[in-house]
Amino acid sequence: MRFELLQPRSLAEALEMKKDYRERAKILAGGTDLLVLLKDGKLRAQAVMSLGRLSELNFIRSEGERGVAIGALVSHSDVAASRIIQQRCPDLAEACAQVGAAQIQNLGTLGGNLCNASPAADAAPPLLLMDALLTLASARGERRVAIHDFFLGPRRTVLEPDEILQEIFVPQPVGRRGATYLKLGRRKAMEIAIVGVGVAIHLNGSDRIVSECRIAMSSVAPTPLRARRGEAIFANQEIRDELIEEAAEVAAEEASPISDVRATRGYRLDMIRVLCRRAVREALARARNHKAEGWR
Ligand SMILES: Cc1cc2nc3c(=O)[nH]c(=O)nc-3n(C[C@H](O)[C@H](O)[C@H](O)COP(=O)(O)OP(=O)(O)OC[C@H]3O[C@@H](n4cnc5c(N)ncnc54)[C@H](O)[C@@H]3O)c2cc1C
Repeated sequence: MRFELLQPRSLAEALEMKKDYRERAKILAGGTDLLVLLKDGKLRAQAVMSLGRLSELNFIRSEGERGVAIGALVSHSDVAASRIIQQRCPDLAEACAQVGAAQIQNLGTLGGNLCNASPAADAAPPLLLMDALLTLASARGERRVAIHDFFLGPRRTVLEPDEILQEIFVPQPVGRRGATYLKLGRRKAMEIAIVGVGVAIHLNGSDRIVSECRIAMSSVAPTPLRARRGEAIFANQEIRDELIEEAAEVAAEEASPISDVRATRGYRLDMIRVLCRRAVREALARARNHKAEGWR
């Protein structure tokens, strides 16, 4: 494995390098996905551009009532340990705390998790639930892309060859909200999800009526996705067991899982139903306990 190592000292310098090298230079953040592919010979690179010196991409910043901005280089450990994230996006903190194990969480970044575009990316469901916006930068300028439009397929995104993911912006959800992310693996650590399900529930004033329910899943289709038809079942309804059953069934219908070394398609469909039921109940309990703290 031989390649030229590029080590820009600023985002501006990195963008200039990416403009020149385009797809010939692969971006390295934590390297927990990229280096595995390079070592296994599944990917070839003339050059590798390390973002390690770009401290300007390593931040978690509250933007008050608007939401939270997270630099692409923030590690899973830092996301999981952040008080801001724990308060405002607890399901994202939960998801990052379930990526691999401590070593992977210390090295792996939120941006790398998204740009790698694995169907099993654990950070994707919570960010899909929150309608996150991604800032993609190039020497030509910046553009903002909704996370819903970012993934094109396994390991494929809308990133152009000269672009770098700079920031993930999580808008502030309105009202009383509870959310959770549940992941099923064959073991507790160092395991890619067999199925991951995130649910967010927004309550409508009272403790009973759901104004909105959102369901997002990983490892069940070529990209992480929202189960829009399953979500619609709860709109302006009081949550009852029959609705939970129906939504879990419909969410499974919206998935198109494959059979692979980790699980069969049939098992994955069963587990979507199980995790969906559990996640709805947990998100509902959290929404009911939600204290309307001001966002700082
Ligand atoms: C043992 C092991 C266990 C794992 N367990 C899990 C798990 O449980 N859940 C899970 O979701 N993942 C898991 N992973 C995968 C990986 O750790 C995560 O996806 C991690 O977040 C990748 O981040 P990184 O910074 O290491 O990315 P890198 O490997 O540096 O990059 C990944 C890809 O994204 C591109 N990229 C990175 N940053 C940017 C950027 N800012 N702009 C543009 N492109 C960029 C790179 O070019 C590359 O194509 C595991 C990996 C290993 C080796």
